[in-house]
Amino acid sequence: MGDGYNRLIKKIEKYNPNCDFKLIEKAHKISMEAHQGQQRVSGDPFIVHPMEVANILADLELDCTAIVAGILHDTIEDTTCTYEEIQREFGDEVARLVDGVTKLGKIPYTSKEELQAENLRKMFLAMAKDIRVILIKLADRLHNMRTLKYMSPEKQIEKAKETLEIYAPLAHRLGISMIKWELEDLSFRYLDEKAYYDLANKIAQKRREREAFVARIIETLKEKTSEIGIWAKIEGRPKHLYSIYRKMVQQNKTLDQIYDLFALRVIVKSVKDCYAVLGLVHEIYKPLPGRFKDYIAMPKPNMYQSLHTTLIGHEGIPFEVQIRTEEMHKVAEVGIAAHWRYKQGGIADEKSDNKLAWLRQLLEWQKEMRDANEFIETLKIDLFTDEVFVFTPKGDVISLPAGSTPIDFAYYIHSAIGNKMSGAKVNNKIVPIEYVLKNGDIVEILTSSSVHGPSRDWLKIVKSSQARNKINQWFKKEKREENIIRGKETIERELKKQGLTYNQLFKPEWIDIILKKYTFSSLDDVYAAIGYGGLTANKVISRLKEEYRKNVKPDELPEYMEETVEQKRKTAAKCLPENGVIVKGINNCLVRISRCCNPVPGDDIIGYITRGRGVSVHRKDCINVTNNIDGDNRLIEVSWYTSTNVAYKADITVMANDRTALLMDITNVIGEFRIPLKAMNARTTKDQIAIMNLTLEITNTEQLERIIKKIRRVNGVFEVTRNRQ
Ligand code: MN
Repeated sequence: MGDGYNRLIKKIEKYNPNCDFKLIEKAHKISMEAHQGQQRVSGDPFIVHPMEVANILADLELDCTAIVAGILHDTIEDTTCTYEEIQREFGDEVARLVDGVTKLGKIPYTSKEELQAENLRKMFLAMAKDIRVILIKLADRLHNMRTLKYMSPEKQIEKAKETLEIYAPLAHRLGISMIKWELEDLSFRYLDEKAYYDLANKIAQKRREREAFVARIIETLKEKTSEIGIWAKIEGRPKHLYSIYRKMVQQNKTLDQIYDLFALRVIVKSVKDCYAVLGLVHEIYKPLPGRFKDYIAMPKPNMYQSLHTTLIGHEGIPFEVQIRTEEMHKVAEVGIAAHWRYKQGGIADEKSDNKLAWLRQLLEWQKEMRDANEFIETLKIDLFTDEVFVFTPKGDVISLPAGSTPIDFAYYIHSAIGNKMSGAKVNNKIVPIEYVLKNGDIVEILTSSSVHGPSRDWLKIVKSSQARNKINQWFKKEKREENIIRGKETIERELKKQGLTYNQLFKPEWIDIILKKYTFSSLDDVYAAIGYGGLTANKVISRLKEEYRKNVKPDELPEYMEETVEQKRKTAAKCLPENGVIVKGINNCLVRISRCCNPVPGDDIIGYITRGRGVSVHRKDCINVTNNIDGDNRLIEVSWYTSTNVAYKADITVMANDRTALLMDITNVIGEFRIPLKAMNARTTKDQIAIMNLTLEITNTEQLERIIKKIRRVNGVFEVTRNRQ
């Protein structure tokens, strides 16, 4: 049994004599066996490290579970020991803690600007789930910093920076000043050795100069407090170099201008005594205006409570006094760790309750908090469950709402990335785009120039309002402009084909008829609808031609405006591409395939003129038709339009991120076009990419293009190509 072990046991015996010492012993044994043969850079056997970490946790007076997890904290990562073994030997809680520490160790770190560092700290908290994971991680870092001298100079700088940017602020946030000060001073020493020792020497010198001065004040205060019958422990407060250094740099002060360079701490039994002592010191010494702070009435967000006041000593030298109770002192030292400390004479409180209590307390304090910024900063962390923190491939940390997907990520980076997104990789693996991002994921967005914008389905998937807004914006704006242009082009092409000019047909009063018919508010809407495929150019042109014929006398009508029977059939067919039915003698009317008998090409069919809903097409033998032939002559001859319907086969290949219902969504698209799917085979690669070969029976390439476009927009699809044989 090493020295670390013996010290640990002695410490625990003091604050928690009922601890399960057998379990501590077992953890020590298993950890020692697991780390057998491993060495620290210092040359020490590795087991020294986890035992020192456990000792730091015991200094925080943590419960048995945390201590055991501390002893085992490096076993999953660095030895053959597995999660399951730890779980079997020590139970779920210990295993979860060790696993949590292991996961935190995997967060990549490179020095960041402040916002990035803040996100990293938040990511730590979000990933930890149990605050004891953070406490173990802090203890781990503290011992590594204590032994940093064995590392290479580069490693020293790197670790010191990381400690100063991530770990020390975390310790501060959690109120664990005991660990915070030491981490800061150790980092300071490695980051700027010269400044560190300069300052240390100057302070030591001043302390010698002022020793008598401080001793006299302590003497006076001891006398006066006992005179009024108050028990008080009075001590000179230890100095923390980094905090002094930071004050000098930030406030541009010399060492002489730092008031709390010499500080006294008075620890008393009750809150009442705190204020009594405050009154007393203000009687004896002159208080410096504006320097009194009542953190008892208004605790700091990290639970710190104390009275601070700065006074002028008899020699005109300012000094600071901090007054607090013993309990406040404990909290000031160990902060949130106080909630996981062993409670004398009882079981430690339920952990989750504790955490909730802490949050509740925090919310209570919010009402009184003067420094709103400070509070909000704290609160942001405490509500971390609303956020997920992920990395860009370059290592930047990005915060997104919990539940976010790669689409949210893509739009966070840039709307151009989102609009061209074809897929995503998380931790180097292709994932479906609806994958829910986890803390610490490294996300990479795949883009493709063949993607022409987001899918409407994405609106159902995204979590961030930013992504939602950007997608909506795209549909409203970019897409619209694109569609207007495409629609105009289609119209112009069609006019040219028919030997017509724009000016002949596009007269304002005729356009109004079109707008009214389709409830559009501008011609651009018409173009956009054509561009989008919601309306065919031919439908619009035919309607305008009708007006033209009505308004221009037949003998003035150019010959080409007279439609031949064949042209009429063609026009009718083009107007009704979705069901391909020709209604005898009627050129341009609404045709529906009735649902009752669902006729398909080849069936004998008959039309039924409905009231206001066009012609519905039934099979001749449909019971609804035979029942309806009572007098009113509303049946009309119809036929399938087939003359130019030369069907041919086309093979396409679809590549997509595999997901449930993918195939169904794709076949649904094909179904929408009412074209036969002749053959299909599909497979999924190791990377979860689905590759589907589909054979479709189509009538023209325009139709095929429309189908391909539509399939491209199916959620998860990133490539659709036509195979050329
Ligand atoms: Mn470690």
